[in-house]
Amino acid sequence: MIPSVTLNDGAKMPIVGLGTWRAEPGKVAEAVKVAISEGYRHIDGAYVYQNEAEVGAGIHSMIDQGVVKREDLFIVSKLWSTFHIPSLVRGACEKTLSDLKLDYLDLYLIHSPVGIKPGEDIFPLDERNKVISDDSDFLDTWEAMEKLVDAGLVKTIGISNFNKDQVESILNKPGLKYKPATNQIESHPYLTQEKLIAYCHSKGISVTAYSPLGSPDRPWASSDDPSLLEEPEIKAIAKKYNKTAAQVLIRFHTQRNVIVIVKSATPHRIKENIQLFDFELSEDDMKTLLSLNRNWRGFTYEWCSEHKDFPLNTEY
Ligand code: NDP
Repeated sequence: MIPSVTLNDGAKMPIVGLGTWRAEPGKVAEAVKVAISEGYRHIDGAYVYQNEAEVGAGIHSMIDQGVVKREDLFIVSKLWSTFHIPSLVRGACEKTLSDLKLDYLDLYLIHSPVGIKPGEDIFPLDERNKVISDDSDFLDTWEAMEKLVDAGLVKTIGISNFNKDQVESILNKPGLKYKPATNQIESHPYLTQEKLIAYCHSKGISVTAYSPLGSPDRPWASSDDPSLLEEPEIKAIAKKYNKTAAQVLIRFHTQRNVIVIVKSATPHRIKENIQLFDFELSEDDMKTLLSLNRNWRGFTYEWCSEHKDFPLNTEY
């Protein structure tokens, strides 16, 4: 059993979930099946990962075999940036539901505060390789997200990649009906996000950490980038508990009451990544992990750095 975090609407979200970004079509259905049979109940997906039909096939295969029921699962997807204009939000959600072959999502997130030009192209760029904005306001997008809850298409709504000021502006929105249940952000020992996590928690908003291993397979990785899995201090902590560096990196979040999503399409790693609840990192080890912070990001969102809602131009 994976412990859960209770969200601000009472929903229970398993504290560890399977990530599906870059889980290739052809492999991802199998990864989802392995994960569910190993005990994962939370699957994190997104329209922009372009593999939701395969994720859905993996889920249905496990339901059809009687391994789980739909209500045992916590399925997450995200509204891509080309659908921020309020009239596009419901259609985007329905497309995800139809790809996943589900009647509802447990959680639907605005993938990023940045709204971009609607259309077939998921990254519409100008001649300078900068993204083409739409004229949406994410507060209006949030209102359209609230309507999805009222229509029964999604149980809970949240945000992703929002900075403190952007979270605050949603909380201060006149007529706010539902608070975001979670803010999904990059976090690991090189980007501990202590201030943003403390702020969200103080407002009753949970935090979900993505790229807990530092996203080693991100296509833009450079050989000069630091590597969490190779970090001597992390390896030393892992050795002490007879665990792997990956297990220490994932456990780091659960001990801060931060939900964590980790991607693997490799069966033995999928299994390894949830063997987390038979050890506890000491206070000193947690401090050591936090001390590795260097505000290093795997995701710098260069492509939207000139957008009015670029989230990474504030302290946190
Ligand atoms: P992760 O930090 O989860 O790293 C995934 C990589 O680590 C893969 O290459 C995987 O390889 C490898 N790996 C997994 N387990 C182990 C292990 N035990 N030992 C060694 N290597 C391992 O990166 P992600 O960026 O994928 O983040 C996780 C999830 O978060 C995403 O999949 C996505 O669902 C979500 N996300 C959300 C974002 C957002 O903007 N909201 C942005 C980025 C991610 P292999 O698969 O080959 O086993």
